[in-house]
Amino acid sequence: MGNEDKTQHQSPEGHVVVVGGGIAGLATAYRVQQLARAEGLPLHLSLLESEPLLGGKIVTDRTDDFVIEGGPDSFITQKPAALALCRELGIGERVMGTMMPTRPFSF
Ligand SMILES: Cc1cc2nc3c(=O)[nH]c(=O)nc-3n(C[C@H](O)[C@H](O)[C@H](O)COP(=O)(O)OP(=O)(O)OC[C@H]3O[C@@H](n4cnc5c(N)ncnc54)[C@H](O)[C@@H]3O)c2cc1C
Repeated sequence: MGNEDKTQHQSPEGHVVVVGGGIAGLATAYRVQQLARAEGLPLHLSLLESEPLLGGKIVTDRTDDFVIEGGPDSFITQKPAALALCRELGIGERVMGTMMPTRPFSF
């Protein structure tokens, strides 16, 4: 009775706070913006990240001519959302299949 949150309906602009700038947080922030735009809803989005770089466990080092993945370097295509997102973001052409030239199972 006395402890209800009365702040949530005060502003017409939704404020979404995403905690963590790893792939989950970045994908969430991207999707929330996409949905708000599609619905014509005003959105105030904050992405909170405690580290100086975004990406979380996804870390890419470049040393001399070498590109070194410090975290994930592949994803399976049985769950096609990751590949669909890469294509949507315009980096689909840079994704390499692991079992070419047969049908790729992972990228
Ligand atoms: C060596 C390695 C290899 C891997 N290889 C693969 C692979 O080949 N394929 C695959 O699919 N998966 C792989 N994974 C797993 C994959 O990397 C993770 O599942 C995925 O990156 C996790 O993403 P996430 O956004 O959930 O979390 P994270 O990447 O951990 O991101 C969380 C973010 O939140 C931030 N954060 C945490 N707490 C707070 C806070 N209180 N305030 C602000 N910011 C906060 C952190 O700093 C971090 O940036 C691998 C993981 C490792 C470590």
